[in-house]
Amino acid sequence: MAALIDGKAMAQQLIDEVKGGVTEFSQRYGSVPGLAVVLVGDDPASQVYVRNKVKRAHEVGMTSIEHQLPDDCSQHTLNQLIAELNADPAVHGILVQLPLPAQLNEKEIIAAIAAEKDVDSFHPLNVGALVTAEANLVPCTPLGCLMMLRQVCDDLSGKHAVVIGRSNIVGKPMAALLLQENCTVTTVHSHSRDIEQICQQADIVIAAVGRPELIKSHWIKPGAVVIDVGINAVVQDQTRKLVGDVDFADVEPVASAITPVPGGVGPMTIACLMKNTLTAAEALHAGQPNKLAS
Ligand code: NAP
Repeated sequence: MAALIDGKAMAQQLIDEVKGGVTEFSQRYGSVPGLAVVLVGDDPASQVYVRNKVKRAHEVGMTSIEHQLPDDCSQHTLNQLIAELNADPAVHGILVQLPLPAQLNEKEIIAAIAAEKDVDSFHPLNVGALVTAEANLVPCTPLGCLMMLRQVCDDLSGKHAVVIGRSNIVGKPMAALLLQENCTVTTVHSHSRDIEQICQQADIVIAAVGRPELIKSHWIKPGAVVIDVGINAVVQDQTRKLVGDVDFADVEPVASAITPVPGGVGPMTIACLMKNTLTAAEALHAGQPNKLAS
């Protein structure tokens, strides 16, 4: 049976570390880091994510300001709010909850956030900094996955990692991070051929697909480490539940370590957001925001 990588416990440990960092920050600068969270519309899943982020920010001692805009909000209104948050010295991190309603241009909004306050690290400058291994802020979900991998792998160097999915928020930054760790990285996506055979060669599988329980035991090399990013709501036996992209019960006997859903990557993502907000605040106060953003 695979070892369970307990995201909840790891996230709590990271939260406690960030809490200590916030205390030190406030002793040094006489203020606490501030995280602005922007929610447009009333998507129930987004509301839950935002609530959890704000709750965690308060738990670590940061200020967290939630800005709720209506579903029919214009690009101009959102741009204006972001410009105000960019200029506000009490705000060190800005997060716009995605996805945005269809009338809004997501790329333009992300690019409008000051790169040094971009705690999701989706701004083109931060994406470039990640690829060139100069990033101060790293996207939260891939960062959480990497921490979990480090927990179970002494040395990632030379390992073959297969990332399933190539989204801008998970797959691509995950592949960039693993490359930095000297892994041999293969990224597969919906147009890839022979995905199962490619996965069978992997020492590490990162599943970020958004397809419930797609990955089965025969995809997995015995002893591989499996990180399941997927969060999929399904109805089983007339009960609504969350499952990952990996068929956990099927894969657990084959893998050497595996993350559960829920309680795996999800909690680590939020904890990494808190870490990034502290990192951004420290860099802004030290006058050394992301080298490439200044
Ligand atoms: P996304 O933007 O929809 O990207 C999904 C990726 O999977 C795409 O690259 C797509 O390929 C690929 N794909 C789809 N079907 C495939 C198949 N049958 N075989 C191989 N590749 C396939 O999703 P995302 O934002 O990366 O999120 C992925 C999952 O992670 C979702 O379940 C999401 O809810 C979850 N998530 C969890 C967290 C967390 O904190 N735990 C954070 C973010 C996302 P193409 O590019 O060719 O379309």
